[in-house]
Amino acid sequence: MKLILPKFSIPETDNEGFKQRFVYPLILSGAVFAFIAIFINLSLDFGKILKLIPYAALISFVVLYFLARTGKVLNLVKWALVIISLLFLNLLWYYNFGSRGPVLYIFVLVYSYLIFMLRGRQLVLATIILLLNVVILFYLDYNYPGIAGNYPDNHTRMIDIYTGIFLYLFVVFVLMSGAKRVYIQEYYKARESDRLKSSFLANMSHEIRTPLNAIVGFSNLLADDDVDESDLKDYVSIINSSNLSLLRLIDDILDVSLMETNQLKLVYKDCDLQQMMNDLETTYKRKRIELNKVNLDIRIEGPLAALVLHTDCERLRQVFVNLLDNAIKYTEQGSIVFGYAHQGNKLRFYVKDTGIGVPEHHKEHLFDRFYKVEDHPEKLFRGTGIGLYLCKNIVKLLGGEIGVNSEINKGSEFYFTLPAKIVNREEKPLAHHPILKESPKSRKLKVLVAEDQLSNRQYLEAILKPSDFDLIQANNGKEAIEQFKQHPDVQLVLMDIKMPEMDGFEALREIRKLNEKVPVFALTAYALVPDRDRCLKAGFNAYFSKPLDKISLFSKIEEWCKQ
Ligand code: ADP
Repeated sequence: MKLILPKFSIPETDNEGFKQRFVYPLILSGAVFAFIAIFINLSLDFGKILKLIPYAALISFVVLYFLARTGKVLNLVKWALVIISLLFLNLLWYYNFGSRGPVLYIFVLVYSYLIFMLRGRQLVLATIILLLNVVILFYLDYNYPGIAGNYPDNHTRMIDIYTGIFLYLFVVFVLMSGAKRVYIQEYYKARESDRLKSSFLANMSHEIRTPLNAIVGFSNLLADDDVDESDLKDYVSIINSSNLSLLRLIDDILDVSLMETNQLKLVYKDCDLQQMMNDLETTYKRKRIELNKVNLDIRIEGPLAALVLHTDCERLRQVFVNLLDNAIKYTEQGSIVFGYAHQGNKLRFYVKDTGIGVPEHHKEHLFDRFYKVEDHPEKLFRGTGIGLYLCKNIVKLLGGEIGVNSEINKGSEFYFTLPAKIVNREEKPLAHHPILKESPKSRKLKVLVAEDQLSNRQYLEAILKPSDFDLIQANNGKEAIEQFKQHPDVQLVLMDIKMPEMDGFEALREIRKLNEKVPVFALTAYALVPDRDRCLKAGFNAYFSKPLDKISLFSKIEEWCKQ
């Protein structure tokens, strides 16, 4: 399976952006052109038809504008614009005295429109049509000189040509300065994106090496013969928390990559908000003690209304975790309060702190990808600048908006709103997920473990053996099938996905031919949502990403035992 990396390039111009930058201004300048032409033709008192042409053009442009606004027929609008423009130019050519009038340089103008609006093959096609059109006009003009008539006198011709030029220059000015502005904006965006990307990679290296340093260092200390017994627990706890911060970083990066490819899926559930806030309060009170921030008070601002919200609980929690992590990181003393309240037909969630605050000029970029405020001469704050970007995107997906109020050295309030889809508790009881804290000792299960990495097999053995599981080991999918044939009484299979000789998917198919019912759990380092979906679709009964969480594995085994 292909790993989807975050995109660093500027995304292709989206439909809405394209409409706003090109199609709308082009239609509008066409309409302005037609509008001015109405006055010119009236004041020069040209024939009836010549007076009607700009009216008809104006109406067509207005219709096209509203069609473009529907957002559904952009391609049609683009081509209609080409055809209508050419149609009116030909009429103008005929009724405005052929090459004697100003019409030919308006062809140049229309062509510059096309260059902006169309790309690739579409542009080639439009160029050919336009060229053919001009060639036919030239042919007619050359072979039938009188066909388009002539100006009543030289004076009228001069006025018409000069006012035409004036119009032409005006529209070129509007068009070109718009294009220049877009180009400059995109250029600065690209430069900024490149700078952020480089700083992100540097920060990433720092963020990865810092916990790795602790993991490698303390693991080596554990292996020392003269390690002090009393320090062992501390070392293990440091290794664990470093592991967690590494995992969190990897999860965040994967989330960014899922967001950029529109693959982040939401899982809506009924969410007990009060319970979530209480859990967060307990976690962050503990974290405050771990960080030794004795002068910092962390609490829920309440009392909170007991609400059950229909939303993606995990993602909502992720947003809160990010905001609270930041609050605790950037606040030395004072308080961090958080909570939620009704705001019209929405719920407003917030995290307020009395920390360093955000400088005014950084606020508008704070939620950008990889953006970090690095103007802190007295202290270096760790981070990659993706936390708030994730928050912004999750809140957007959940149908809300995020924002910040902040004053430097006084504190910040990060808030977001969500649609208040409140669930009546009586009607919809909350799903209860039994969490098993202890291993399921009461049952002696025969488990087949298929895993090619020795260290992973050793880990599974270390967690399963003490719980009295009967383990059978296999190095790859092929061996797993052989073992399964030899031990048809196997009650559970733990299967790695990527293995030599035969991968987990094929092994599962083979096992299913032998036994349709035995539960087979996938254990894999492919940790994206599509990977999980792929495993479940293939027929695995459960999916676990590595590193394997012992408690979740035991909970799942217990669930299956009950079944
Ligand atoms: P990081 O991982 O660097 O914290 P974020 O995206 O979470 O990335 O935050 C982006 C920037 O926003 C941070 O670099 C920090 O300067 C600023 N910021 C976020 N939360 C706070 C806060 N509570 N107080 C002050 N500054 C904050």
